[in-house]
Amino acid sequence: MMSNTPGYPHKIFKKIVELLFPVYCVRCATRGAIVCEKCLEHLHTSPSPVGGVLVALAYKDRFVRQALWRLKYKGEKHVAETLASVLFHHVRDRLFEIAEESPLSRDEWLIVGAPSPHERITKRGYNHAELLATSIAEKLGEGHIFESGILEVHKPIVQQAKTTSRAERERNVRGAFRVSEHISVRGKNIVVIDDITTTGATIHECEHTLRRAGAHRILLAAVAH
Ligand SMILES: [Zn+2]
Repeated sequence: MMSNTPGYPHKIFKKIVELLFPVYCVRCATRGAIVCEKCLEHLHTSPSPVGGVLVALAYKDRFVRQALWRLKYKGEKHVAETLASVLFHHVRDRLFEIAEESPLSRDEWLIVGAPSPHERITKRGYNHAELLATSIAEKLGEGHIFESGILEVHKPIVQQAKTTSRAERERNVRGAFRVSEHISVRGKNIVVIDDITTTGATIHECEHTLRRAGAHRILLAAVAH
């Protein structure tokens, strides 16, 4: 029966949202997604990795910037799925390589989002990096588990976009994160997902925080650079 198909109600709900709030491609205005499948192939890609971070797209591409802006500031959660579909390939390929390097291990990976200062999550109602992480975990499938709220912000930080230099960005986030006391990351393998990496200060601070808490392998990935 149709209704027993996994994810069926979810798909129906998505269809209804799509009908009520149609989305148009930022590049060619075709109805369906923030960037349609055809246009995804035309987005500027980034060299990858950059400073140890896997990256999919180039931030200089104005369509990439538009999509990210709508995800972060306009509350358009559907953008996460489209952007995650691009970054997913990079993460999957790297995880394959790691699995080949140690073929006997069948390790689980936790997929987590870089933390966002609380007040910004409250304003928007979600952490956009966690939305990307959820979508990537779903696409990776078995053995890849999305975990919410692993990293917390515990000192006031200003938005990285408002800082001016590399040194300032590093100072801004240094010691700013901690691992939630409800979760142990000791011995775990973790993929950290963020939307944009500029100097890498935020995502590397996530790495240091997880490393100090005993995480085993850590992979860093961001949609754009
Ligand atoms: Zn298009």
